[in-house]
Amino acid sequence: MKRVTVAGPELEGLTIDLPAASVRTLLPWPGSHELVMPAWNGNEFLLPDGSRPKIRTVTPRHFDPDALELDLDFVIHGGGVASEWADAAERGAVAAISGPGRGYAIDPEAPAFLFAGDETAIPAISQLLEALPDDTPVEVQIEVARPDARLALPDHPRATVGWYDLAAGAPPGDALLLALEGADLAPGTRCWVAGEAAAVQRIRRHLFQERKLPRAQAAVRGYWKHGRSGDADDDT
Ligand SMILES: Cc1cc2nc3c(=O)[nH]c(=O)nc-3n(C[C@H](O)[C@H](O)[C@H](O)COP(=O)(O)OP(=O)(O)OC[C@H]3O[C@@H](n4cnc5c(N)ncnc54)[C@H](O)[C@@H]3O)c2cc1C
Repeated sequence: MKRVTVAGPELEGLTIDLPAASVRTLLPWPGSHELVMPAWNGNEFLLPDGSRPKIRTVTPRHFDPDALELDLDFVIHGGGVASEWADAAERGAVAAISGPGRGYAIDPEAPAFLFAGDETAIPAISQLLEALPDDTPVEVQIEVARPDARLALPDHPRATVGWYDLAAGAPPGDALLLALEGADLAPGTRCWVAGEAAAVQRIRRHLFQERKLPRAQAAVRGYWKHGRSGDADDDT
């Protein structure tokens, strides 16, 4: 994970009201340091040469409206525009930001929460922990593909945190699903889950079909697609 802080007067007016929201980042074409702005053709944004711009979604981890600085935490997975841009980013690197996209409203009356996800969900889960009332119990389950992806999470007095290693070569979500199968879902528990698209499909099946969790008690979001560029951005 690498933190990149974007800054500038263009961030004036950005308001992030809820945890686990998103922003879209327009990044330079790989190998270039220049940002070419796309134009709307009535159907989609395209670059002057007709190609699709490199736009990726990330969590606005922390915004300082006085300094006009926005922290973004990128998973460095070694093979994508955003990952490579963040890994190489130095002072003066350019990106364009739009948003925010919808976040998650924590129900202060809910008796308990479960927050679960893979590395891409760590920024959102950190915000959720910061926003959760101190007396609400929460179980946190995070799957990591590399042991060094275990990061310090914000302290919460009622949190139980479990880190689960994904075995080499296993499909994303295998370790998380196993952990979720063992989770205590007391009546009324709210679940927030995000990760790889196929993994969250399996998780939806488990929560809604096997555990009979009412859909209204869950937000399950696909954040990326194994083997495909661009984020998944689907949700329940
Ligand atoms: C609402 C929302 C919030 C998100 N927040 C964050 C965030 O805060 N930080 C963050 O890092 N990501 C976040 N993501 C996920 C991020 O948008 C995707 O991981 C995106 O695909 C990364 O773009 P890329 O250019 O690095 O890789 P891409 O060009 O999209 O993909 C290239 C290859 O890398 C693979 N790949 C993509 N992501 C990963 C990964 N995480 N691990 C392993 N392989 C991967 C793809 O399957 C593909 O084969 C969020 C997504 C959504 C929808």
